[in-house]
Amino acid sequence: MVQTSMLIKPNLNAQYPVVDYGQGVYLYDQQGTQYLDGCSGAIVANLGHGLKQIADAAYEQALKVSFTYRTQFTSPAAETLAQRLVEKSPGMDWVFFVNSGSEATEVALRLAWQYWQERGKPEKRKVLSRRVSYHGMTLGALGVSGHYGRRHRYNWLLHEEPAVAEAYCYRCPFALEPESCGLKCADDLERKIRQAGADQVAAFIAEPIVGASGAALTPPAGYFEKIREICDRYDVLLIADEVMTGLGRTGEWFGMDHWNVKPDLIAVGKGMSAGYSPIAAIMASERVMETIRAGSGVGVFGHTYSGNPQSCAISLAVLDYVEENGLVEQVRETGQRMEAMLRQLASVHGIVGDVRGKGLLFGMELVADRAKKSCFDSKLQVANRLVSTAMQNGLVIYPSQGMVDLYAGDAILVAPPFVINEQELQEMTERLDKSLKQVAQGLE
Ligand code: PLP
Repeated sequence: MVQTSMLIKPNLNAQYPVVDYGQGVYLYDQQGTQYLDGCSGAIVANLGHGLKQIADAAYEQALKVSFTYRTQFTSPAAETLAQRLVEKSPGMDWVFFVNSGSEATEVALRLAWQYWQERGKPEKRKVLSRRVSYHGMTLGALGVSGHYGRRHRYNWLLHEEPAVAEAYCYRCPFALEPESCGLKCADDLERKIRQAGADQVAAFIAEPIVGASGAALTPPAGYFEKIREICDRYDVLLIADEVMTGLGRTGEWFGMDHWNVKPDLIAVGKGMSAGYSPIAAIMASERVMETIRAGSGVGVFGHTYSGNPQSCAISLAVLDYVEENGLVEQVRETGQRMEAMLRQLASVHGIVGDVRGKGLLFGMELVADRAKKSCFDSKLQVANRLVSTAMQNGLVIYPSQGMVDLYAGDAILVAPPFVINEQELQEMTERLDKSLKQVAQGLE
């Protein structure tokens, strides 16, 4: 039998197990093999798999009405969801629904450009971003992404390459120490704004914690406060890409809440429906929306499935579940235990150089020599080896490879569903422990 996956998988030579079903934090393939979902798929399945409450919400909405078009109808599900989202981020004023994180980034960019056009400054159109970053795969979003592996084939048609220094304390780009660095990485934004000319710069986009390309790079204290201040000083919009960090993943509703920083635009996606239906959103602040409302009053973006009642109802059910079960607080508590377990693993496995993150979003960077912080030869594909070894041991983890042009970048993300319990956490750690041991032995 030809496996359908032969026709649809992006890596043509890879062998994927064929999933049968999921239950809680586990997935089962058609052979009955069990996998602990240690990264919630792509940091999406925040509530785990097979949750009846969400399936019921999907069923009820499908019976009522599952599709209406955004220029003809709105729906109670879409309206309530928009309201609930802005309530979680005071200062936000308007929400627009799309289908993926990449589209949310696209709308954020369009809104930023439109804002400056309506303010009579159309020449403000550069969007600055950091060298280690990922904001999506569509061409606009990829243009502001520093993810070498994903962008290098298309550089010729993309926005200028991201140039702002990464906030990467383990390998500080300025060779400084966090206690005494004076946040030079934040100052680099100011330098890049001045180089470009503030009258040319529309926005700065950043992930609160860098996910896919930085394995949970977490900024030093004070970083985003300083970034906000620089954006204000140079009249540059701040776009928070909360596609991975938003809606509870880091132990706050939004990643930026850790530092009380209010962005002008916020992109969310992934965990918004916990994987039960594709949906993402862009939230815009009063500042942006007042200008656009008083100006043209029109926003030209949107897709066939924007505001789809079915996806909105599912996303609402997900928000209900998170709130009713106090899952954001739970992420904070479980995250502390997970961090301790990962640090314990790092203390016994010499190939783990750094452990970083917040809540249930953690990265582990893998190194050839811990004292020297030297990277593995990229040909050894150490992160990929760890991911496939873990898979053989019944654990799914996510490789993070966006740093490969700047650093060798062998790293993984560990980000289990919010609902993981103590015993499952232990099991996850044991499977990771075994996998790290096997990979290290294979490299000897
Ligand atoms: N932004 C961030 C921070 C992401 O992590 C991702 C996906 O990994 C995206 C944007 C793109 O989202 P999507 O894959 O849903 O288009």
